[in-house]
Amino acid sequence: MRRRLVAGNWKMHGTRDTIQSLVSGIKAGIADIKRADVALCPPFVYLNDVAAMLEGTSIALGAQDICQVADEGAYTGEVSAAMLRECGCHYVIVGHSERRHIYNEGDTLVAEKYIAAQTRGLTPILCVGETLDQREAGETHSVISNQLDALFVLEGGVDSLERAVIAYEPVWAIGTGKTASPEQAQDVHDFIRRKVAEHNLAIAEQLVILYGGSVKGANAAELFAMPDIDGGLIGGASLKAGEFLEICAAAE
Ligand code: PEP
Repeated sequence: MRRRLVAGNWKMHGTRDTIQSLVSGIKAGIADIKRADVALCPPFVYLNDVAAMLEGTSIALGAQDICQVADEGAYTGEVSAAMLRECGCHYVIVGHSERRHIYNEGDTLVAEKYIAAQTRGLTPILCVGETLDQREAGETHSVISNQLDALFVLEGGVDSLERAVIAYEPVWAIGTGKTASPEQAQDVHDFIRRKVAEHNLAIAEQLVILYGGSVKGANAAELFAMPDIDGGLIGGASLKAGEFLEICAAAE
């Protein structure tokens, strides 16, 4: 039985004041969430603040990106796995579509970030997903397949998924208000699980696969009811405590 996970990706949002009230609001309702795991991924600069606020709660901390090169050194602007661990991070998002598309992160770089996180004790949340053009051209499965293959060829590849999470995030659904239908999402989640199963059935069966893309309190339950959807990676709706808690409750 896979445990569900709901992770909030705050992206580049928040101030000291707003995160204080957001985290307080989430903490106020978290006691009702018993069967799903919950994580918050603030911007780097607020990791320490949020870590302090989450102390003594069941909510895990995550980061939004990681340096794939080294634990320390002359890499201006980068943040290493060791630093994230020291801040109390359990998760790190890698390959979010905004990083793939705005910062031109390719499949190989994303896979390297994934391995850097994974081998240093963080649980990567690996994002995969197709653009609208790719979906309309019937390329959804092949795009996802290439994104996963980039990981599988690296050292530790498929076996590393034993301690990892995959997030299927159709690019056309992120921040657009357009959600994949539960059936569209299930189709891709099933594809991902079957692809992993070709390499390792046991890992495929325990692999947590999140859906992300305009998930809200109003649509979370129908998405999470699908057999291969194990929770959500939540952007916009994770910035409102009540809405985020509603999504967490739908994962119960
Ligand atoms: C995301 O940023 O990962 C995301 C899914 O965003 P949103 O929920 O706003 O579509």
